Amino acid sequence: MAFMHFDESIEIIHELRIDSYRTKKLYLCDALGYILAEDIVANHNSPEYPTSAMDGYAFRFEDIKLGRLKLSSINPAGSDLNDKVTVGSCIKTFTGSLMPVGSDTLIPIEYVSVEGDVVIIDDEVTHGFSVRAVGENYAQGDLLISKGTKIDIAQIGVMASLNIVTPLVFEKPTVSILSTGSELLELGEAQTNDAQIRSSNNYILEAIVKKYDGIPMQLGCVKDDKESITTAISDALAQSDIVVTTGGVSVGDFDFVKDVIREVGCDVIFKGVRVKPGQHIMLARKGDKFIIGLPGFAYSSTVTALLYVVPLIAKLQQGKCPLRKISATLKEPFVKRAKKAEFTACNLSLIEGEFFVDFVDKKVGSSAILTNMLGDVALVTTSEDELSKEAGEKISVLLLD
Ligand code: AMP
Ligand code: MG
Repeated sequence: MAFMHFDESIEIIHELRIDSYRTKKLYLCDALGYILAEDIVANHNSPEYPTSAMDGYAFRFEDIKLGRLKLSSINPAGSDLNDKVTVGSCIKTFTGSLMPVGSDTLIPIEYVSVEGDVVIIDDEVTHGFSVRAVGENYAQGDLLISKGTKIDIAQIGVMASLNIVTPLVFEKPTVSILSTGSELLELGEAQTNDAQIRSSNNYILEAIVKKYDGIPMQLGCVKDDKESITTAISDALAQSDIVVTTGGVSVGDFDFVKDVIREVGCDVIFKGVRVKPGQHIMLARKGDKFIIGLPGFAYSSTVTALLYVVPLIAKLQQGKCPLRKISATLKEPFVKRAKKAEFTACNLSLIEGEFFVDFVDKKVGSSAILTNMLGDVALVTTSEDELSKEAGEKISVLLLD
C-alpha cells in the first residue's frame, strides 16, 4: 500500500460513516463536557412579561412631566401584584419584579427623593427605562443550542433556565489502550535486564483520551508475541469503541500488530501516511469499532494520537475536533526535515495579541524525545510541499489546549 498524503488521511477520519451513535440522558451538571444529542429550543419567552431591571418606581412615562408621583403600592420580586399604576401614581418595584399593569418605565431609586408617599423625580429617564422587554433573553421557538455542541458552562445555565433536568447527550466512546513491546516495563514493574525501558505511551495515551473526551480503558503492555497480541486486541475490540495500540506497526521482524489487525477481521482504512513523525500509522475498522495502530516511539505515538485519535473520539460523538490551528510568527528559522507533513514541537508565546514560536531547548534527534512536549508547547505544522522558513515568516501551529 502506497503511503497516503497526510491531508487525505485526515479527510478520511472526518468523512467516516458511522452507522449508530449511543445516547443517554444525564443530570444537567453531569453533562458538562459531553456533546449534546438534541437541539435545545426555547419553550417560553424570557422574560415572559415586561420585567424590572433595577430597583425603583414603575410609572407611566408620560407622567414624567409632573415631576412628582404618588406612591400607591409596593411590588417585591416574585409577588403576584394586583395593583395597577394609574395617572400620576407609581409603584415601588424591584429588580426581577414584573412591571405593574399600566406602567411602562422604571425610575431608579437613585434618581428620586421620597417625602412620605410622594416620589420626587430628580433625574429624568427615557421611555421604557430599565424595563426588560418580553423575549429580551430569548423568545419562544428560538434554537438556543444546536445538537453537536459541546456542553460548557453557558449551556448548563441556559438549559437550567429552560428547566431541562436531564439533557440527551452522546455517550463518550470507550478507548482501550494497549502498548506492545517486549522491552517495556509498566509503572512500578521491576527491571530485570538492561534492555528494558519504562513504557510511557500507554499512560500518555490514557491522559490524552481523558483530556479529549473519551473514556480510557488501560490495558497495559503486551510482549512482542503474536498470540498474546492477538488475544489482547480481540478482547479490546470486543469491549470498546476504539482500540489504540502503540508499537509493532513498522517493518521489524517483531512488528506483529499490523498483521494481527488484519487477521482479527478488521478492514484496513489506511496504513502508512506521509507524516513525520509516525509514518507507519494504521487505521482499521470492524463494523463501528475502530483500531488505530500508532508507532512505538514516544513522541511519534503522542503526536499521532493527537492527530488521529482525538478527532476520531470527537467523530464518534458527533463533536468537533477540539484542536485548533493558528498562524504564528517564527522567532527563529524553521528547518524542514522531510518531504512529508511535519509536526514539530515548539514553544508558543502570546505577545501583545500575536502568537510567536521558537525552538529554544527543543532537542533535535529521534522521535523518542518526549520531553520536547513539555512547557508551553504547540506543534508547528507544515505540509509536505512546504520548505524551511526564515525568522519573521508566518507558520501554521496546532494548539494543544
Ligand atoms: P516500535 O514501533 O515497536 O518499533 O518501537 C519503536 C521505539 O519506540 C522503540 O525504541 C521502543 O523502545 C519505543 N517504544 C515502544 N513502545 C514504547 C512505549 N510504550 N513507551 C515508550 N517507548 C516505547
Ligand atoms: Mg516494538
